[in-house]
Amino acid sequence: MIKQKNVNFHYHPSGEELHSWLIDLFPINRSISGEGQFLTLQYIKNKLKALKIKSFKSNDTAFDWTAPEIWNVKEAYVIDNFGNKIIDFRKNNLHLVGYSVPINEIMSREKLIPHLHTIEKLPEAIPYVTSYYKKNWGFCVSYNQYKTLGNGPFKVVIDSSFEKGDIQYGELLIKGSTKNEILLSTYICHPSMANDNLSGPVILMGIVKWLMSFENRRYTYRIIFIPETIGSIFYIKNNLNKLKKYVKAGLVLTCLGDELNYSYLCTRNGESNIDRVAKKLLKDLNVKHSIYPFTKNGSDERQFCFPGIDLPIGSLMKSKYGEFKEYHTSLDNLDFVTPKGLKDGFNLISSAITMLETNLKYKITTLCEPQLGKRGLYPQSSELGSEAMVRDQMNVIAYLDGEHDVLDISEKCQLDYLKTLEIIDKLKGSQLIIEI
Ligand code: ZN
Repeated sequence: MIKQKNVNFHYHPSGEELHSWLIDLFPINRSISGEGQFLTLQYIKNKLKALKIKSFKSNDTAFDWTAPEIWNVKEAYVIDNFGNKIIDFRKNNLHLVGYSVPINEIMSREKLIPHLHTIEKLPEAIPYVTSYYKKNWGFCVSYNQYKTLGNGPFKVVIDSSFEKGDIQYGELLIKGSTKNEILLSTYICHPSMANDNLSGPVILMGIVKWLMSFENRRYTYRIIFIPETIGSIFYIKNNLNKLKKYVKAGLVLTCLGDELNYSYLCTRNGESNIDRVAKKLLKDLNVKHSIYPFTKNGSDERQFCFPGIDLPIGSLMKSKYGEFKEYHTSLDNLDFVTPKGLKDGFNLISSAITMLETNLKYKITTLCEPQLGKRGLYPQSSELGSEAMVRDQMNVIAYLDGEHDVLDISEKCQLDYLKTLEIIDKLKGSQLIIEI
């Protein structure tokens, strides 16, 4: 955790607390619309009272897109010719292809097979499949189960409904001392999977509580819990001018709860402030990590960074979606995401925010070097490590020209960001520098 002087943090979620929220939300059958989305937003609002639940309507258009109808499911199952319910949506909501149209039919094995999805190389796993914009139906089963299906005939029932209505999302603004904004976005549209994507909403809930316990914040925080893709497209359409004017950096929060890796997906520009912060943070953390170019994108940064939108939004993750074998399967579960993984994910995001908050420009007030000894900033030569300390301090001072920000200076001086900040804080305390 990066510490910031003059700021008291009152709230830090434990990994267990974050994990308990994830356990609560896990069973809900989420999709890009419908009851699961409503229940998820209600749960989040219960923890974050200031959350505003907003909506756009089915059949409304945003740019090239039309919002889909609201999808709900009462039940979905397959019964074999012995009367056994062999596939049941109630046992695992991944069994049903998202946005499946209703069906109630007795059919042959040959007719059923093209509607079954399975992963041969992960025989235990139920895959996650959706068909939002093409009317279809289907079931997902583990390869092990697929092999034991029998010859049929099968009774196939999907009691789903489509109707016009509201597609909901959550929004929360946390005011800072400036109108400049940091956008933090996550999605709330995946059914029972933990890393992709419940770790995102859960960490964002923790981050909101943490941000609200700051004594002061430089940035205003725009927090959104949206259905992926369609949600970000509508959000951008409804807020484009504000976003373009005020958003200075942002992150899509997802895949933040495993213990395998750390990752950063760059913005399309690749050199914006958030790119610099994320890369430096991962370097300073001294953990195994991967930096991905924008071409490896896969979430709402696609919309936020689109030509003409061009918001500086990247994605800091633990293991990136698509890069872990459990991704989009039933193996992405409550064991794969751990309290420790979530706590590390929280620390990653909160550290990036702290860097954004503190990455300022300062100017030294003296011409030629300040006399450090008379200010108690020059250690006794006998002190251990004092030579390196003096060197670091002088190097930092040399770049306090009002042109370089803290991040630039830490890189020029080959210092950790935190160490650089510590030196600057000391100089600030001696009234040797002014903020630009
Ligand atoms: Zn996903």
